[in-house]
Amino acid sequence: PEAHPDSAQIIQDNRDYTLFSWSVQQATNPIHMVGGKGSHFFDGDGNAWLDFSSQLININVGHQHPKVLQAIKDQVDQMCFAGPSFATDVRAKLGKKLAEVTGLAKSFFTLGGSEANENAMKMARLYTGRDKIITRYRSYHGATMGSMTASGDPRRWPVEPGVPGIVRVFDPYMYRPPMGGSAEDWADGCITHIEEVIQMEGPHTIAAMLVEGITGSNGIIIPPDDYYPRLRALLDKYGILLIDDEVMSGFGRTGKWLATQHYGIKPDIVTCAKGLTSGYMPLGAVIVSDKIAEFFEDHMLWGGLTYSGHPVSLAAAIANLQVYEDENIFEHVNELGEHLGKRLEAMKRKYACVGDVRYIGLFSVLELVKDKKTKEPLAPFNGSSPEMAKLAAHLKSKHVYAFLRFNWAFVCPPLVITKEELDAGLDAYEEGLALVDEMMGKAAVGAD
Ligand code: PMP
Repeated sequence: PEAHPDSAQIIQDNRDYTLFSWSVQQATNPIHMVGGKGSHFFDGDGNAWLDFSSQLININVGHQHPKVLQAIKDQVDQMCFAGPSFATDVRAKLGKKLAEVTGLAKSFFTLGGSEANENAMKMARLYTGRDKIITRYRSYHGATMGSMTASGDPRRWPVEPGVPGIVRVFDPYMYRPPMGGSAEDWADGCITHIEEVIQMEGPHTIAAMLVEGITGSNGIIIPPDDYYPRLRALLDKYGILLIDDEVMSGFGRTGKWLATQHYGIKPDIVTCAKGLTSGYMPLGAVIVSDKIAEFFEDHMLWGGLTYSGHPVSLAAAIANLQVYEDENIFEHVNELGEHLGKRLEAMKRKYACVGDVRYIGLFSVLELVKDKKTKEPLAPFNGSSPEMAKLAAHLKSKHVYAFLRFNWAFVCPPLVITKEELDAGLDAYEEGLALVDEMMGKAAVGAD
């Protein structure tokens, strides 16, 4: 890649005239992005960054995939605009494909994940005639008022009390059972406690439970094998719908179309975005079961969006899903995911600061600690630390684009990453972990 002559000015103008997400503006330090290819993107100084943070947008098929780009261009040439109430070929095609891969019936299209969750919650309320939605504390569902309130993590704090009717429960976080006790106890407790909450709230008041298929930005929380079958049965017992937010975990990230497909259950509603187009165009979807679809045959769907079903976004999605199949991308994820898991386990053995590693497909995290026995986090919840900053600075110096949050270091590359690229990025993580161990004054334990 070549350096861009006006890079510094462009960054300055961005800072002067636009607002950046989730930032104290004066502390933002944006990278000037000018292009990309496969697992790399390029900055204005002519650097190629290895993208290890692809889950944030889910550039699953890699940067600038020619087939997705071509489909977008073709659709622009053919027809760029159709309002939300028109029938189009791309709308039919994508609806049909989503029904096929999820086992559900009909899709309502949105512009992204937050709106998908807003509409899913609204549809669940309309369908059940009940008001409350159960969500989990360690979750993120979006940044609009409703989806932000539904999120359990600290990002919701500034908008509280938010929208009424959200009831929160604890997560299947086996590394840190929230009530203390053993992981085995909590494997049972994390379900029985939800039943207790349902009973105390009144089952007849609860429309749905909204969960991330596998929790993403709150630390890749992978539930015990029987969690979803038991949860599905529990919700069925009380007529409560299961809404599965697959915005981050869906569309190949874990090696399947939906993360919940690993557990053999079917949600009533799936929400998705990101990996639906690999981030090429803004698009989300609410995909509902045949029962819910049937309900809306003779009940009003109270909702609509000007850009719902925008043909260019739909064309990007269709081409993107085709690439997953043509290039056997999910198989690649499963193969490479095994290799990634082995390397993460070895890192856990080798470095004093690695307390836990969690991984499924190319969706993974290292949970960093000051002490493996006490599990004291390397940075406090909702905070940072010099050690985490050291790791971040090292990865940045190697041009590995990584997402670190609190005491979690995520590893989520584009799904098309090669083994060599993955290993190169992981080597940079290892160098950073060695620096952290050194900083904590601990020699690496149990050399691999
Ligand atoms: N749900 C989950 C699980 C997410 O990770 C995100 C985005 N990070 C959203 C919803 C919100 O999606 P969007 O930013 O497209 O509105």
